[in-house]
Amino acid sequence: MTVQSSLIRNLESNLPLGLCRIPPSPPDFFMTSPSKDLSIADLQKHIHRMYYDKDVARGVDGTFMWLMEEVGELASALRGDDRENLAEEFADVIAWLFTIANVADIDLADALSKKYGNGCPGCGRFQCECSLSEKP
Ligand SMILES: [Zn+2]
Repeated sequence: MTVQSSLIRNLESNLPLGLCRIPPSPPDFFMTSPSKDLSIADLQKHIHRMYYDKDVARGVDGTFMWLMEEVGELASALRGDDRENLAEEFADVIAWLFTIANVADIDLADALSKKYGNGCPGCGRFQCECSLSEKP
């Protein structure tokens, strides 16, 4: 259901505006389709808007299991030759990671920026010079 159809439904039910569950001025964020080039912060907001209520009801543990299932599907896709499916599995893993971050109240753009924004966390360089045996 779109926000617009919710608004129409609320207006049709003759509820005073203060009782509408959807605010009368819809947010301007992704009212139609999201742009192809999403920032990390925008994508987290987008996932939040779409799934947060369900994600909170499921909780971190249940959501983490979905992420692990998607990681397994990504592993299978990496062994196959279906490029479209592979791209979808990458997208699913990222989406479920955002979902868990939303439930755990973690700002991923901020976390990524703090950890990787100034170079490799291991060696501090923008072209990592850590040995292959190290995990930065
Ligand atoms: Zn490094």
